[in-house]
Amino acid sequence: MTHIGFIGLGNMGLPMAQNLIKEGHDVTGFDVVTASVEKLTAAGGKAAADVSGVARNATVVVTMLPSGKEARAIYLGGEGLIAKARAGTLLIDCSTIDVATAREIASVAADRGLPMLDAPVSGGVGGAQGATLTFMVGGAEDAFAMAKPYLEAMGKTVVHAGGAGNGQAAKICNNMVLGVSMIAIAEAFVLAEKLGLDHQKLFDVTSKSSGQCWSLTTYCPVPGPVPTSPANRDYQAGFTAAMMLKDLKLAQDAALHATASTPLGAEAAMLFNRFVGDGFGAKDFSGIVNFLRANRL
Ligand code: NAD
Repeated sequence: MTHIGFIGLGNMGLPMAQNLIKEGHDVTGFDVVTASVEKLTAAGGKAAADVSGVARNATVVVTMLPSGKEARAIYLGGEGLIAKARAGTLLIDCSTIDVATAREIASVAADRGLPMLDAPVSGGVGGAQGATLTFMVGGAEDAFAMAKPYLEAMGKTVVHAGGAGNGQAAKICNNMVLGVSMIAIAEAFVLAEKLGLDHQKLFDVTSKSSGQCWSLTTYCPVPGPVPTSPANRDYQAGFTAAMMLKDLKLAQDAALHATASTPLGAEAAMLFNRFVGDGFGAKDFSGIVNFLRANRL
């Protein structure tokens, strides 16, 4: 049994913290929303009123926050986690944040001698609930070895992607592929419709041909061919268009800093920006097919 602190008990963080409790760990949680902390205590966890309260007894602290801004607020400064943590505390940030901030926080932690990892996830709320998340982890080898049992309590696949920030790099590269491939598949279905080609026929051919990809075979953006995809339930998310836009923007940010050429990533960010700007941010990202069909892009 390990004393684990958990900060950020939202859609993802709460079920992840609950899975650590199920594994027999003593989990103390903090969130600015009191109702979320109460849900943790109802599940057998303990409540903390602030960062210090989480850090006091913890030997491992996991954070699951909205963005780099909140991660900075929690980790840095005199009242932050890095200042308040006990010597040797393992810090694991599972939030999706920009690579530069992840590396900056890790370097401040290293200055205090604290092992730290960036460990963003894929798999969504369902993956968090079912402990089937994929973790993409950046940080030192020894910190990764320390963290692995805890990550395995919350997920199914744990990949060490290299040094600090490389977990975030892996996450945004993957999600840039996802954003671009979803648009490509959606465009193909819209073109097929105009050419009089049946959805199922396009699916039958492409799922067995060189255009095959996850956006088609698992997350098909039109109803019918993949009964479990969000298209069959009016594009109820799944993975929201707002989240996709967030990750595409992070990828563009990183590409700018690294002077990498990502023209399709840039186009995908622009298209999702328009989709979200038109009020569809809470819908599943695969709903972008309806925008294409209506010639609204
Ligand atoms: P969420 O908004 O539901 O949860 C974030 C939580 O952090 C909230 O409960 C919020 O109150 C809390 N919080 C914010 N600022 C705080 C602070 N200063 N101190 C303490 N608590 C604070 O978001 P989520 O859906 O759980 O996502 C969390 C992270 O996981 C994000 O970075 C997101 O990009 C990433 N992610 C989400 C999904 C998904 O499907 N939801 C999938 C993969 C990755």
